[in-house]
Amino acid sequence: MLKLSNVETYYGQIQALKGIDMEVQEGKIITLLGANGAGKSTTMKTIAGLLNPKKGTVEFLGEKVTALRPDQLLRKGIALVPEGRAILSSMTVLENLEMGAYHRKDKAVKAEIEEVMQRFPILKERQSQMAGTLSGGQQQMLAIARALLSKPKLLLLDEPSMGLAPLIVADIFNIIKEINSAGTTVLLVEQNAKQALKIADYGYVMETGKIIVEGNAADLLTDPRIVEAYLGRK
Ligand code: ATP
Repeated sequence: MLKLSNVETYYGQIQALKGIDMEVQEGKIITLLGANGAGKSTTMKTIAGLLNPKKGTVEFLGEKVTALRPDQLLRKGIALVPEGRAILSSMTVLENLEMGAYHRKDKAVKAEIEEVMQRFPILKERQSQMAGTLSGGQQQMLAIARALLSKPKLLLLDEPSMGLAPLIVADIFNIIKEINSAGTTVLLVEQNAKQALKIADYGYVMETGKIIVEGNAADLLTDPRIVEAYLGRK
């Protein structure tokens, strides 16, 4: 579904991605792991079109999409929930959801907002509340719900569990599993390596702009290199 070939992305002179090769297969959950600063967010931003790679190609559904803008990629079916969620705190929950469907004019949008709110009952309950007054977990749910309204084929989630209490983290991981079971392919960046590998089919591990290990999630969970570096203390 998604294929990155030898992708190199820079911030000015600083090379953040040093030739990334990665594949995401339709219907799966793929996780991208690695320490702070490894280049995970840069990879996500490059896929979503927020950054343009200097070298290499990104293909989506068999088409080269390397130089497309974020809005064009959203129309093709790639939605990003960025690190830090980026919800609009001084707009209501409902307004935030409406923003998620801004590029669609069809009448179905209203019904879909209703449908998404069924999936996240807390958002329905709080629909008139300012988004900034929600708890961290609820804000994350709102960010995910908003992304779902673009009807993505591929959902990019950048550290959705960041800053959340363990019980809420479990909720978020369950939601990710449900979204995937309902047919959306997921690429998940996580610091919670163990939990991410438990729900993922396949994993990539990054270090200083490169993929250093990849494999089936079940194998990575017991891979001594991964256990020692990322799973040991959790
Ligand atoms: P984190 O979990 O901390 O977000 P990450 O794996 O997502 O880590 P990136 O944010 O992709 O890492 O950063 C990769 C590298 O690019 C780091 O060395 C970082 O310092 C650098 N970098 C990130 N954003 C910028 C920027 N806007 N300008 C310059 N350098 C940047």
